[in-house]
Amino acid sequence: MSTRAFFEMNAGDEEFLKRHFDIPGTIIRPGSFDLKEIPSPEKCEVLSVFIHSRLDREALLLLPGLRFIATRSTGYDHIDMDYCRSKGIVVSNVPVYGDNTVAEHTFALILALSRKVVQAHNRAHTGDFSLTGLQGFDLRCRTLGVVGTGHIGTHVIRIARGFMMRVLAYDTKPDKRLADALDFEYVDALDDLLAKSDIVSLHSPLLPQTRHMINTQNIARMKRGALLINTARGGLIDTDALLSALTSGQIGGAGLDVFEGETLIKEEKQLLSNEYNLEELRTLTKNLVLFRHENVIITPHVAFNSVEAFERILLTTIQNINAFEAGKPINVV
Ligand code: NAD
Repeated sequence: MSTRAFFEMNAGDEEFLKRHFDIPGTIIRPGSFDLKEIPSPEKCEVLSVFIHSRLDREALLLLPGLRFIATRSTGYDHIDMDYCRSKGIVVSNVPVYGDNTVAEHTFALILALSRKVVQAHNRAHTGDFSLTGLQGFDLRCRTLGVVGTGHIGTHVIRIARGFMMRVLAYDTKPDKRLADALDFEYVDALDDLLAKSDIVSLHSPLLPQTRHMINTQNIARMKRGALLINTARGGLIDTDALLSALTSGQIGGAGLDVFEGETLIKEEKQLLSNEYNLEELRTLTKNLVLFRHENVIITPHVAFNSVEAFERILLTTIQNINAFEAGKPINVV
């Protein structure tokens, strides 16, 4: 009998899966992909992971019978797609599950920075109710620069218009009709958006051509003191450039749900048990400096993490697996 293996599943996911899925022959584990958890790896035909399991060539070589990967995410940069194509392994994703969910978290970060919510909370928590240094700013009439007007970026724009913000957007494939419908304006170049925005929010995919799309050169073009929000992928921002800009005041604050090297530090205990190379240690050190910065708000890649989004993710994953096993794969990437 062939095996299906699910990794990175919490107790709630497991319950949901059991209610909706034909379970025999299915392994369900809470941690990231680990070969030791699959009793007969050669029989594993279907693998489902979230984003913290690195399915690189070395990992996939260990599953010679693998035919299908159902990633429970939109992005698939954690999977070696070239290797999958060369071996005929089909990969499906969850193209849409939380446009509003991630967009709402984007605004949680924006508002936390614009109204200094974390500093205010920390102060009040100690019994200090003074207002010094806690003045924020209105979003109304400020300019939000949205990079990437796909599923999530579009929803961010909808919310921003509700706040009566002016919205500028940059996308390699602008959608004029969308701009008319939601009353925002596209610019022709990223630099133009950076120069005119009070808050810049990233919603494009991580691709070789978008890696470090925010870097030393173009951060210098941003309005001094502007806010930078990233709920897309950590690799879009050059962390060195961000750190210098935060230190110099060129960037006034950053709200980050994602950051470079986040998979290295999912759990604190991993810091002690893992062996790191020099590059990874450098990344970890940079992150520690970033996390301590008083104008930075970090959330640990939770923008998608709502009850409703999880149910949509699991339902689509179940449909993806059923469709593959019926010989008609859907949501193939
Ligand atoms: P999407 O594919 O619907 O939209 C991406 C948009 O980016 C597209 O309109 C595309 O044309 C545009 N784009 C591509 N290259 C670009 C470039 N060089 N410059 C500007 N725009 C460019 O994707 P989505 O579902 O809206 O997801 C957006 C991002 O959010 C992705 O990076 C995804 O991985 C990330 N994401 C994060 C979380 C989280 O929990 N933090 C959850 C889901 C998705």
